[in-house]
Amino acid sequence: MMMNRKDFLKTGLAAAAGLGYGANLPAMSESQTAATDAGQDLAKYRFHPLHRFSNDELVIEREQPGRPHEGKVLAAIQPHSDDIPIYAGGLVAKLIREGYKGYLIRTTNDDAAGTGKTRAETILNNERDTHGVAKALGLEKVYDLSYRNHNLHEVNMQEITARFVFLIRMLKIDTIITYDPWAPYDNNPDHYITGTAVEAAYTSRLDYPEQLDVVEPHGVSERYYFTRRGPQYINRIVEITSHVDTKVRANMVNVTQGPGGHSGSELRRRLADKGLKLPILGDTDETADFNYIKHIMLDLDSEAQRLTPSDREVGKPFGLEWAERYYYRGPIRSEIDDYIKKSAVRI
Ligand SMILES: [Zn+2]
Repeated sequence: MMMNRKDFLKTGLAAAAGLGYGANLPAMSESQTAATDAGQDLAKYRFHPLHRFSNDELVIEREQPGRPHEGKVLAAIQPHSDDIPIYAGGLVAKLIREGYKGYLIRTTNDDAAGTGKTRAETILNNERDTHGVAKALGLEKVYDLSYRNHNLHEVNMQEITARFVFLIRMLKIDTIITYDPWAPYDNNPDHYITGTAVEAAYTSRLDYPEQLDVVEPHGVSERYYFTRRGPQYINRIVEITSHVDTKVRANMVNVTQGPGGHSGSELRRRLADKGLKLPILGDTDETADFNYIKHIMLDLDSEAQRLTPSDREVGKPFGLEWAERYYYRGPIRSEIDDYIKKSAVRI
């Protein structure tokens, strides 16, 4: 009997391992598919306001014990210093904790975003923040491609693609986390051009043969795409409950731009000038910054500040305390080995 996608998700790697396939398959543990077994009607979330247009089977990727991803490499690719912390800080922290080695790639220099007395100072401030984000999330190194902010649509697509292909080969990147290039209504060219170049690099695994004089061939096998406001294809809910505080800290170091940084302590000061305080902000700048990001930016005021639903609300229908949403694209299992094993006859 042919195994359909649902059966495959249930049996996961255990079944794939015996077929001489699966070296590049994601580690799909039983915990990741427990939602269907638990009898939850995932179909009802397809058009749920927080989980729109999830036409694929929805997978719940739970936190996993140990280091199931040991030996794998991820690249978190962002146009701006605040994108990964805002949208994917939980997933990155989770995958690093579960054994991945990771790198942060930023396509622009953020010269038009955030504070600085001069444009050069703004660039420097954002560069420092980006390194702080990498450190907070446990990433090895930052690669800044340094294109001009909000100008990525004037850069030759082939040039960005070739740079990605080289980095994928050099760093042996298996998994990429970035903006969904197919998501409608994102008006920032840096977002959709970065995502589009990632897609082109995925397809170009055999291109640019001259690079192979200095790097080995290597292709990406998994992509997690996020987006901001607008209809979004979602087929994966990632549990980030144990990693939400790390996500908060990655947003705390984004002081030059982004909705995090010192917003909490600044709000606390403004309220104090009027003789007011919000108890949730605590009594120090540190607690104000931390709690503002965790409870206001990622939750209460998420739609306005991040253009995406609250991480807490996203997890709620699935019994998760905190979660992020993705459109996941992984390897598609071939049925042919299984078919040959069962159907081939002697001649
Ligand atoms: Zn951005």
